[in-house]
Amino acid sequence: MNTPQVSPCDSIDGIQLQTQLYIDGRWCGAAGGAQLAIFNPSTEEVLAHVDAGSADDVDRAVRAAGRAFKSWRNTSGSARAHYLRAIAVGVEARRERLATLQSQNNGKPLEEARIDVGDVIATFEYYAELAEGLDVKGESEVAIPSPEHRALIRREPAGVVGLIVPWNFPMVTTAWKLAPALAAGCAVVLKPSEITPLPELELASIVAECGLPPGVFNVVTGTGVEVGAPLAAHPLVAKVSFTGSTGVGQTVMKTAADTLKGVSLELGGKSSIIVFADANLDLAVDLVAGGAFFNAGQMCSATSRVLVDRSIADALVERLADRAARTVVGDPFLSGVQMGPLTSRAQFERVQCYIARGKEEGARLVIGGEPMMGAGYFVRPTIFVDVPTNSSVWREEIFGPVLCVRSFDSEQDAIDAANDSEFGLVATVVTSDEARGKRVADALDAGVVWINAPQLIFPQTSWGGYKRSSLGRELGPFGLAAFQEIKQILSVRNGG
Ligand code: NAD
Repeated sequence: MNTPQVSPCDSIDGIQLQTQLYIDGRWCGAAGGAQLAIFNPSTEEVLAHVDAGSADDVDRAVRAAGRAFKSWRNTSGSARAHYLRAIAVGVEARRERLATLQSQNNGKPLEEARIDVGDVIATFEYYAELAEGLDVKGESEVAIPSPEHRALIRREPAGVVGLIVPWNFPMVTTAWKLAPALAAGCAVVLKPSEITPLPELELASIVAECGLPPGVFNVVTGTGVEVGAPLAAHPLVAKVSFTGSTGVGQTVMKTAADTLKGVSLELGGKSSIIVFADANLDLAVDLVAGGAFFNAGQMCSATSRVLVDRSIADALVERLADRAARTVVGDPFLSGVQMGPLTSRAQFERVQCYIARGKEEGARLVIGGEPMMGAGYFVRPTIFVDVPTNSSVWREEIFGPVLCVRSFDSEQDAIDAANDSEFGLVATVVTSDEARGKRVADALDAGVVWINAPQLIFPQTSWGGYKRSSLGRELGPFGLAAFQEIKQILSVRNGG
């Protein structure tokens, strides 16, 4: 075990916080001495100050990871599984603290933050199993039409990898990358979002305490320009796994092209939920509201476009408006609160801007549209109907609790309307006709389709989308493969 280093900590409500960078097995200040103020979106108050790294810190972290990789790459899958399980146990032990920090920093209701922590645990446990499996399946013989030769395919770790994550599901998006990267045998430099580093640093301190060899896991907090860009550019980084906006993802890919490193991208979405006339309306209302207002709509997978059969459109909209009116918006720590604030002032302003544009573009506002009075970035659930297909609110990712509704006249119309998007992350189909549900799911350009189901995501499955929503897939064996190289070894049988 490497000894955990003590570092200066802020505290929130008596909870000591980690606020430094973690490089080569030590907590340390940023080379340039800069700091970032971290806010509570419910109160707009400063929660803490976190060290803000720069290209020098990224370089130190990448070099430490490169040194550690030399021996880490040769550890057995079961040895790596041991660390992954230790992380899952550590997260379990600090469940409530992680959830609390996430609600304070991101603004999501405590119940939602607890769900995220459960996802993190499940992800580390799942990749522990896959890591163990590598001891058996990491190398396999392939049948070839040449009896005198033997061909082996080996899966090897990609190398030093940079993980860049956003603020909407900070710990979950980190776990989806960190667990498979460590399972594969990669050494990691993690760059959390500059908006929500507090739960990430708490997760990092759990990882740091699980005894990984120094340098295998490093964290550099800071801005995208100061830390994310140099990480994507660093010549010793073999691969960048990025989750964030489509525009920044494109920049990361262009940067990575200079050193021809691999990239995986999980980007934005503008997904549809299709409600057929035979749908159970109670279920449809639950699924639409969940898909649009969970995490205050700040979900890449938000099904923020509703396509509803014209014959039930009025009935559905009436019930959705009622649900929106009854949604309790407020302090994420109060019991009964269903929606917290947006996570940052920038996001709050962006959503206000989209709501104003929606009105200008001719969409009819049914409910919401106004920010709530007082401190905090609170926005009420907002519903637009009769939304023009060429409007920005129909076509662009808003990333807030804004739902846009249109009607359709046939199954094919619904499929065409859903697929008419530059994105293709997810979709939901609500129908009591099982055959139709499957037929429509098959026809949708989306990486995940839920039929009559809420947005459940199991680590055993897959995550990612079509078109401008993703490049590659996370979760399941696909998530592990993203951090592996493939080597073929061909030899002459019987030693030649
Ligand atoms: P963002 O693109 O602004 O930032 C994401 C991360 O990239 C942050 O850590 C940021 O500091 C960093 N970054 C910024 N500029 C960079 C640069 N030039 N080079 C390298 N890194 C840079 O996204 P955000 O606002 O944090 O998150 C919201 C977006 O994330 C939404 O578009 C959402 O759809 C997307 N998202 C996608 C998924 C998915 O699985 N597809 C999941 C969650 C969020």
